[in-house]
Amino acid sequence: MGSPSTDDKQKPARRVAVVGAGVSGCAAAYKLKLHGLNVTVFEADGRVGGKLRSISQDGLIWDEGANTMTESEADVSSLIDDLGLRDKQQFPISQHKRYIVRNGKPVLIPSNPIALIRSSFLSTQSKVQILLEPFFWKKNKSPDSPESVGGFFQRHFGKEVVEYLIDPVVAGTSGGDPESLSMRHAFPELWDLERRFGSIISGGFQSMISSRGGKKSPSGNSKRRRGSFSFLDGMQTLTDALCKEIGHHELNLHSKVLKMSYSCDDNAAGNWSIYCAPDQNKQFQQSFDAVIMTAPLGNVKEMKITKTGSRFLLNFIPEVSYMPVSVIISTFKKENVKQPLEGFGVLVPAKEQENGLRTLGEA
Ligand SMILES: Cc1cc2nc3c(=O)[nH]c(=O)nc-3n(C[C@H](O)[C@H](O)[C@H](O)COP(=O)(O)OP(=O)(O)OC[C@H]3O[C@@H](n4cnc5c(N)ncnc54)[C@H](O)[C@@H]3O)c2cc1C
Repeated sequence: MGSPSTDDKQKPARRVAVVGAGVSGCAAAYKLKLHGLNVTVFEADGRVGGKLRSISQDGLIWDEGANTMTESEADVSSLIDDLGLRDKQQFPISQHKRYIVRNGKPVLIPSNPIALIRSSFLSTQSKVQILLEPFFWKKNKSPDSPESVGGFFQRHFGKEVVEYLIDPVVAGTSGGDPESLSMRHAFPELWDLERRFGSIISGGFQSMISSRGGKKSPSGNSKRRRGSFSFLDGMQTLTDALCKEIGHHELNLHSKVLKMSYSCDDNAAGNWSIYCAPDQNKQFQQSFDAVIMTAPLGNVKEMKITKTGSRFLLNFIPEVSYMPVSVIISTFKKENVKQPLEGFGVLVPAKEQENGLRTLGEA
């Protein structure tokens, strides 16, 4: 939110307000501070972390929001190194042992395409369709309109793959369903693979070969391949570490932003004024050169935003429906579990659920 319109001349931002102290707001504030900017964070709640919340009680640690993350981006690796969190990373015991319910029972998902073809997880017809995908994948009949994740995978691999692999994996990673998520945004790399190569299977092989032949990435790469992880004290370790670096003076808790106004006055102390709830502990009306908004869209739409006195409409913000999620934590004493404790989540496809509920299936 440098300015609500592109035609206004932009001054280099020196004082930046960050709204929201979830992981996005904390990471943004940390980076800006590293670059020498003067940052102020406004958080409605009485704590930092947002959806990252780790609880420690009676010797147990659990997460009530996100419970793992990945290092798929190089920036995440350097952030973990810079924050000194490398020693605190906690990897699951059996990362690749994930289960999907089929005919009422959890079945180990084959961990690679060859194992999938060899297993009895899918019907012979679906396996043949996977093998022949490079020759028989179907083109998108309406390339100009957004395609769903379900539609995309059905064109390439058929209905059973969507129902028993894509549906539970999508529910497990985003809480959504394949028909309502956009392929382009949910799986940009696969979407791009189709644009470049057509077939996902042969495109995957070709890009794998070309990346092996290419230059080796800098050192952190092998660390980044290790998959999902948390931290010894839970995911909130990340936002706590970021918060420590940002500093308490720059962080305003119990400071719900209700109103923001933008003025085009070049002589003003800053173009953005931020107003916090008057009945909160702190009352603010401060000026900034720029605002980074990380509050959920529903909260942003509740804010009153004005530009030179007139209401600035947020009608360019898309409608996004957030799925309601309930978190249930169950714990067991190790000695009471007879089978080996190996596995990283059970996912239940919509087809296997009679009550309409979907699971994120964490373990
Ligand atoms: C149950 C669950 C499990 C999940 N599991 C995973 C997982 O395993 N891995 C993964 O990568 N992701 C997971 N996610 C998603 C992940 O937790 C979120 O994408 C991420 O935490 C969002 O961070 P954020 O900072 O963008 O938003 P938030 O965490 O929502 O932070 C936004 C902050 O803005 C504040 N705010 C709102 N309105 C205002 C206002 N007016 N003024 C000031 N502050 C305001 C809020 O209080 C909040 O602190 C999970 C999410 C849930 C709910």
